[in-house]
Amino acid sequence: MQNDPIAIDTLFTSDEKLIRDTVRRFVDADVTPLMKDAFEHALFPTPLIPKLAKLGLLGMSLPEALGGSNANAVTYGLVCQELERGDSALRSFVSVQSSLCMYPIFKHGTAAQHKLFLPNMAAGKLIGCFGLTESDSGSDPNSMKTTAKKTSGGWILNGSKLWITNAPIADLAIIWAKTKDGIRGFIVERSFKGFATQEITHKLSLRASATGEVILTDCFVPDSHYLPGSEKGLTAALECLTQARYGIAWGAIGAAMACYEIALDYAKTRIQFNKPIGAFQLIQKDLVDMFAAITQAQLLNLHIGRLKEQGQLNFMMVSLAKMNSCNIALDVARKARNILGANGISLDYPVIRHMVNLESVFTYEGTDNIHHLIIGKQLTGLDAF
Ligand code: FAD
Repeated sequence: MQNDPIAIDTLFTSDEKLIRDTVRRFVDADVTPLMKDAFEHALFPTPLIPKLAKLGLLGMSLPEALGGSNANAVTYGLVCQELERGDSALRSFVSVQSSLCMYPIFKHGTAAQHKLFLPNMAAGKLIGCFGLTESDSGSDPNSMKTTAKKTSGGWILNGSKLWITNAPIADLAIIWAKTKDGIRGFIVERSFKGFATQEITHKLSLRASATGEVILTDCFVPDSHYLPGSEKGLTAALECLTQARYGIAWGAIGAAMACYEIALDYAKTRIQFNKPIGAFQLIQKDLVDMFAAITQAQLLNLHIGRLKEQGQLNFMMVSLAKMNSCNIALDVARKARNILGANGISLDYPVIRHMVNLESVFTYEGTDNIHHLIIGKQLTGLDAF
């Protein structure tokens, strides 16, 4: 954060700060200038993909031999934070590619699948999407209707997945489908007969993210594309979501940091009643509350990051951080929008863009209610689902 008033930087290693600052410079120079138009015209800025790959930001937690850089959890978190300072759509793209596509192939796939897909995905040559949600199956993925039936040499998939990030630009999809033995994961390539995507238009949030439907019509998926590690069923999909939610916890605070910093600058220069508005006590209270909330979230994120590095992180802790960051980020964005007055609703400032993006971030990867129930179950021992 600007000036780092409580010296959080002392908690990061020099390597972590170096990567964070490199990504921050990339976002300031190459991303932020594009996002106003990308948002307005609802276009994902695809020219950024090779740049993300060149910086090593796709699948960065994976081993170097598979195209990753063995990045530790805090480094990955800081990268998500910096990317989302630019726009939630960019962080969503990286989260989906890294945590929801490369991670399941790495964790649940075979050595042949690793070799076939991961280096090309790290290089940004193959783009992935993750299909769990359906039109009638959101918070309750067990109710999915997409099926996979065993046939000679492979599987026949039927069904459709809705609200799928990257679907319109994806070369492959990690599809979760019901078999007679339970939910399993499959790598489905765009070139497979019976695979189609349809872009979702008229979104008023995450406009710069390509979101779509994946339609599977008697789509034959060879045995070579079945994820054997998905034999644990829905848990295998939820393990991927835990990875992605971890990055979201950091990312949402990146959007909050951007909103806070813009509001702070604005409050120091906008003159009303012959004074900078930042000199008014009510504005200062909002700025201090924003700063305090961001700081608390940064420290929680850092704590769970270190736990992750020590192998001690569990999904409840990730739910807490994802839920906390989204609530704080939305509140900060709304306060910033208020401080900017009428300019707060203009795309000439990034605040309204972050604010409406965060509505999606609040909902996807487990809604706020669902995270409350996950944490509530852990605290009370009582299952409210
Ligand atoms: P529902 O599950 O219908 O929920 C509606 C409301 O009811 C919510 O407020 C919810 O909290 C509440 N609710 C539901 N059950 C309970 C309960 N038991 N107790 C209390 N309240 C409850 N999905 C993917 O698979 N892949 C993607 O890449 C992906 N990208 C997305 C991108 C965007 C921009 C968006 C908006 C969504 C994306 N999603 C994706 C889908 C997302 O994960 C779902 O929208 C989310 O899980 C919620 O499901 P739903 O929208 O069907 O809402």
